[in-house]
Amino acid sequence: MLDLTGKRALVTGIANDRSIAWGIAQQLHRAGAELGVTYLPDERDRFRQKVADLTAPLNPTLFMPCNVQNDTQVDELFQTIADKWGTLDILIHCLAFAGKEALTGDFSAVSRENFLQALDISAYSLVQLARGAKPLMSSGGSIITLTYLGGVRVIPNYNTMGIAKAALEMNVRYLASELGPQNIRVNAISAGPIRTLASSAVGGILDMIHHVEAVAPLRRSVTQAEVGATAAFLGSDLASGITGQVIYVDAGYEIMGMG
Ligand code: NAD
Repeated sequence: MLDLTGKRALVTGIANDRSIAWGIAQQLHRAGAELGVTYLPDERDRFRQKVADLTAPLNPTLFMPCNVQNDTQVDELFQTIADKWGTLDILIHCLAFAGKEALTGDFSAVSRENFLQALDISAYSLVQLARGAKPLMSSGGSIITLTYLGGVRVIPNYNTMGIAKAALEMNVRYLASELGPQNIRVNAISAGPIRTLASSAVGGILDMIHHVEAVAPLRRSVTQAEVGATAAFLGSDLASGITGQVIYVDAGYEIMGMG
C-alpha cells in the first residue's frame, strides 16, 4: 500500500490551484506525509497569502519563501528544515521559468541573458536544492523533478525551455549516480501538457493539449492529480528500486511515431 506516514516532504513550486506542485502536495498529504511548502516571494507579495490559504487544509508544518536565485534564502530554507525537522525524506522540485521571448519565435534569437536565466532557474536549481537536501536525507530519500518531452524532441515554441529540460534530465542522472550510495533516489516525471501559469507562457499551449487529446493512446491529456499520484509513488518505498529515470505521465503520447 502507498503509505507515506512518518515521511517529511518539501514541496516547491505551488503558485495556485492549477500548479502541478499543488496536485503533488495533495497526493503526498493523502498518503500521510508531513508537508513543508515554499512559495516564490515578490515585491508585492502576491503568492505568500495565496499559497498559505490554498495549502492550509494540508497542515504544512513548514512554510518558507524560496526564490532559487537567492542563495541566502535557499540556505535559510535548509537551515530551517534542519532546525525544525532534522531530516528530510522527499524533495519535490516543481519549478521553472523562462522569459516570454524565450518561449516563442526563432530559437536562435534568444539572448544570452534569457538563455542563462532559464537554465539557472529551471535546471541549476535542482542541483542547488539536491545539495541542500543531501545532508538532511541521512537515512535515504527521494528527489523528484518535473520535465517535459520538449527536452528530448523539438516542440513548437518550447525553445529555450527545451534546452533547460535537457539539462535538467541529465542533472537527474548525475545526481542519481552521486546520491545513490546514500540511498537517495532521483527521478523526473515527464508530464503531458497541462494548463498552468507557467505553461500559458508557452506559445500555443492549448493547441498542444488538443493535439495530445487527439493522438495520445489514452485520447486525453493528464491531470495534476495523476502527476501527483506518480510523485507519491516515487516518493514511497514502493519505488525503492527506481532511480535516475524519466517517467512519462502523458497518456502515452511519447510512444507515438506519427504524433
Ligand atoms: P506553475 O506556474 O504552477 O509552477 C511553476 C512554479 O515555478 C511557480 O510556483 C513559480 O512560483 C515557480 N518559480 C518560478 N521561478 C522561480 C524561482 N526563481 N524560484 C522559485 N520558484 C520559482 O506551472 P507548472 O506547469 O505547474 O510548472 C511546474 C513544473 O512542471 C515546471 O518545471 C514545468 O516546466 C513542469 N511541467 C509542466 C508541464 C505543463 O504542461 N504545465 C508539463 C511538463 C512539465
